[in-house]
Amino acid sequence: MNKITLPFLGAMTAILLSGCQAPSNEVNLYSARKEALIKPLLDQFTSESGIQVNVISSKADALLKRIENEGQNSPADVLLTTDAGRLHRAKSAGIFTSINSELINRNIPSQYRDAEGEWVGLSVRVRPIMVTEEGKEFGISRYEDLAKPQLNGQICVRSSSNIYNQSLVAAMLAVSEADSLERWATGVVTNMARTPQGGDRDQIRAAATGQCNVVVANTYYLANMLSNEENTDDFAAANSLSVIWPNQDDRGAHINVSGAGVLKTAPNKDNALKLIEFLASDKAQEMYANVNFEYPAKEDVALHPILLKWGHFKADTVSLGILGENNANAVKLLDRAGWK
Ligand code: FE
Repeated sequence: MNKITLPFLGAMTAILLSGCQAPSNEVNLYSARKEALIKPLLDQFTSESGIQVNVISSKADALLKRIENEGQNSPADVLLTTDAGRLHRAKSAGIFTSINSELINRNIPSQYRDAEGEWVGLSVRVRPIMVTEEGKEFGISRYEDLAKPQLNGQICVRSSSNIYNQSLVAAMLAVSEADSLERWATGVVTNMARTPQGGDRDQIRAAATGQCNVVVANTYYLANMLSNEENTDDFAAANSLSVIWPNQDDRGAHINVSGAGVLKTAPNKDNALKLIEFLASDKAQEMYANVNFEYPAKEDVALHPILLKWGHFKADTVSLGILGENNANAVKLLDRAGWK
């Protein structure tokens, strides 16, 4: 052997080794969803695929920070989080790679997927208006009605620092002029029964104790409270409210997604894709939506019985990528309107 061959062989061996790595049998999931809720689903994935799922659970914003801090060395393969606004933030941070999967494209409507394929919506959440018996008399049928003067002191809604309200306004920005939308937001602030406090559940509880008659909240909170009759106070509170599907004669009720993306730096990219494909499959769609009382992203998947009771509704068809694109303007608008 001459002097050139040895390093050459060494390099060839390295290339061959890196190209022929035995497929790993694990995937690292960074999840902003409650582990206890998604565990049955992940166990199902493991039993079908033989791929072990290692879960790191934390708050959505903390996970994104962590991935950014870990940089090239991040063990994360998949980020699973809620809200298209947050998925967009992750995309803007440049942490995702694009997903190209026939199965996902077939099962998940394009409205719920990032235009560049960097994230995929996996469950749908709806943010309608809920009213007490008394609240029905206001004849609310649109989000726009929330600013009407007759609703003065009637509305309970959480803070605008929460992304759910930011995304609602971001969706409205897609169809309304910023000026008129700001007037609307100012009207909503005027109509608030109290300074925004607590989460969506707390708004439902506040209506039940007579603090307000009109609530804006995600339906899975209401369904969750209705699912547990042993918590008598919460059950009664949720049971005292009726869901109004807003804007049924025009753009439809505001929806959002929980979803996932594959990390650009993922050490187990193939398994990451397999996990997301599994979550988009019929069986997983039903399980995934039902554990959290959300709606499946895939059409024609069975709904939880509590959701069936509220009946069919028309959903806003705006592409959910818009929620992220309009987020900064929505935050500024809410700020100017004085929505705490
Ligand atoms: Fe939530």
